[in-house]
Amino acid sequence: MYSEKVMDHFTNPRNVGEILDADGIGEVGNAKCGDIMRMYLKIEDGIIEDVKFKTFGCGSAIASSSMATELIKGRTINEAMALTNKAVADALDGLPPVKMHCSVLAEQAIKSALLDYSKKSGVHIDGLEDVNFDDDHHHDVHEH
Ligand SMILES: [Zn+2]
Repeated sequence: MYSEKVMDHFTNPRNVGEILDADGIGEVGNAKCGDIMRMYLKIEDGIIEDVKFKTFGCGSAIASSSMATELIKGRTINEAMALTNKAVADALDGLPPVKMHCSVLAEQAIKSALLDYSKKSGVHIDGLEDVNFDDDHHHDVHEH
């Protein structure tokens, strides 16, 4: 049911923890499996210098946050903004359809942290105003 990459990132998650002097902190949750994800960003000159996360949730949420941190570390803010939940799931070699919403959470956690950074630093980030942090995200897939 789960790919080797999902199992690997679940049992050995990367970038777990918190950044005490983070430039942006985002927290999102979903009601479906009770996942809560907190993302810490250290940003310098438009580059994500460091990223850490704490996720209280299901295995897919932990694997998604771990993979998402790997995908945005060292990247620009715009690259982090462009990261979709589908890209996270693809990097994990796929998630079961009923678990796609856990990868949505990873995308939202990054954007929520970028929003916090934007507010604190006064740096405008294109596309943030269109972000929808509701549970029923439009990228979510329907569960049957
Ligand atoms: Zn979940």
